[in-house]
Amino acid sequence: AEDLLRIADLIRPVPDHPEPGVLFRDITPVLADGGAFATVATELAAHTGEAELVVGVEARGFLLGAAVALVAGLGTVPVRKAGKLPVVAASRSYDLEYGSATLELPAGVVEPGTRIYVVDDVLATGGTAAAACALLTDVGAEIVGFGTLLELTALQGRAKLGDLRVDALLSA
Ligand code: IMP
Repeated sequence: AEDLLRIADLIRPVPDHPEPGVLFRDITPVLADGGAFATVATELAAHTGEAELVVGVEARGFLLGAAVALVAGLGTVPVRKAGKLPVVAASRSYDLEYGSATLELPAGVVEPGTRIYVVDDVLATGGTAAAACALLTDVGAEIVGFGTLLELTALQGRAKLGDLRVDALLSA
């Protein structure tokens, strides 16, 4: 718990990013601190349970997801923004406050029935996490949980994830 308090202090609040009125939580200093990074990866890895694979969501979810996978002894697969992957298994669009975004899952790396732990750095409105999970269920995978460093509880992202277990190390 002492470690988590120190990690919370490393998160840098940036007012009015990416637009006026938004308080952005910058986790860069957490990743830049070896002890904090290791603690976050180890704590999330402890929640992977029966998972066989870790999926990280672009882009900071790649950094955390890869570390969690390595600690847990699992492989990792990236969910990417549209247009980045050479071969795509599934694609999902979701609404943003202004406009929409699309996420894609690479082809040939997630077999039907695979148990997946999904990782991203921050859970805000939940749109990104819900789209990532939808991609995985589209290909027949089974999601066992969603792990994140920070949950912005006021935005009620959990509500978009149904009864999926959410492991948030910190909340704000
Ligand atoms: P959501 O779709 O609204 O839940 O937003 C979550 C996605 O946006 C994640 O991929 C985060 O990386 C990013 N995000 C949203 N708000 C923040 C923030 O305050 N700090 C860092 N990332 C954020």
